[in-house]
This record gives sequence, structure tokens and C-alpha cells, in this order.
Amino acid sequence: MLFATLCAGCNQPGESLCHRCRFSLAAAASQVSDTGIIAALPFEGVARQVVHGLKYRNRRQVARQLARLMVRRMRVGSVDVVTWAPTSGARARRRGYDQAELLARAIAAELRVPCRRLLYRCHGVAAQTGHTRAERLRGPSFRARAAHQRLRVLLVDDVVTTGATLAAARDALLLAGVGSVACVAAAATPSARQAMKPAIRRTAAMASAGSSGTNTPRMPTPSAAATLEATSSRNAVRSGSAPSLARAS
Ligand SMILES: [Zn+2]
Repeated sequence: MLFATLCAGCNQPGESLCHRCRFSLAAAASQVSDTGIIAALPFEGVARQVVHGLKYRNRRQVARQLARLMVRRMRVGSVDVVTWAPTSGARARRRGYDQAELLARAIAAELRVPCRRLLYRCHGVAAQTGHTRAERLRGPSFRARAAHQRLRVLLVDDVVTTGATLAAARDALLLAGVGSVACVAAAATPSARQAMKPAIRRTAAMASAGSSGTNTPRMPTPSAAATLEATSSRNAVRSGSAPSLARAS
């Protein structure tokens, strides 16, 4: 029993995610922010335990299951590359891995597109955990590698707390020149969810619109809404008024 696998959701011996907890995750509702960030799960109950397990208890096996769920719940079209909002270097080093990167790599594998590191944390900005709400709202700052103009990026993070991290990471990518950025997170905290609305499930008509005539890998959800969101926020970045979940909450 010493090396038995425990469920990341309920700690019962057996699979890395037991049938009951899997069902519980599948039943939980996804939400979307007014800036287009999709959060696949609420950061509470079993979902909170599972994401915590990935983040703090070295339960890396659940990254694949979470990634599948995130892919199923995304409302974005074709993407060229998947990237992630990197955790601060010190924390990732202490932990031995970056949970956002694990999720991004698992999602890229699901979508059969490359996963690349495009973002770096700017120095002197500490991790989000343990900071005051005002500090968290300001968010970390990122710099991004220069990218070609038509690149469609899927940006991944683990938990949306204020939306500031994803907003800052997306702005850095847009300023570096990418064509569009769609954002997806595994979960959103209850306070973040107050500023979000239920994500509408894809319809058949949207599905065919999202996969027409290109040979790029298909994603299970449509492109129009997310691309519009990203394009509009790119314009907003240029005019210095990027909308963010943080401001809305
Ligand atoms: Zn379980």
C-alpha cells in the first residue's frame, strides 16, 4: 500500500482520478470572462482538490485529464501553438515543475500542435499566492518572444484568481506581434467567477463554422468569438486600454 496511487480528488487508493471524481469534474460548469478567458472548472470542491494536487502535491498525472476537459470546454478555433503563463522561477524550481506548463503540454498533445515557451516573467515580480488583493490585481509582468503576425496562440494557466496574470501574459504576446491569443484556465476561484458568465456549449452550426476548409488541427470549439475577443484586445493594447477581468471585478 506504500506506493498505492491515490485519487487526486478524494485521496482514495486506486486511480490517479477515480470514477466518482471524474464524474464530478465532468458535471461542473465552465465559465467565461468578459475578456474571453475560459475557465473549465470552478476552483472549489473536487476540482479544487485536483488542481491543488497538480500544483502542490506533485499529482502530475492529472494534467492529462484536466487538459482533456479544458480542450472539450474551449470555445476557440484553430491555433498554431500552445503556450503558458509561467509560474515565477523560484516557485517552479522549488516544486521541480511548472503546473501551467504541464497543462499546456498536455493540451498541445491533445490538439496535436506544438507547445512552445513564448513568455518570461519580468524580474522582481513575486508570485501571486499570499499577496493582497490589490497587489494581485496589478498582476505580474511578462515579456514575450517576438512572433510572426499571423500566429494564433492558445495561452494556458492553471487558476484564474483575478484574471490579471492571463491579461498581462496576453498583452505581452500581442505586443510581441502575435495575431491572436485565446486564453484557457483549468479553474477559476469563486471571486473570479462572480465576474464571469456560464460558457455556452458549442452547437452543431458553430462546430462546422469552426472547422471549415483549413488543414490546421481542429479544436472542438468555434473560432469566431475568441478570435474577435483577441483581436479587439489587441487593438485595446495599442490604444493603452486593455480590458481585463481584474477591472471588471
Ligand atoms: Zn476520487
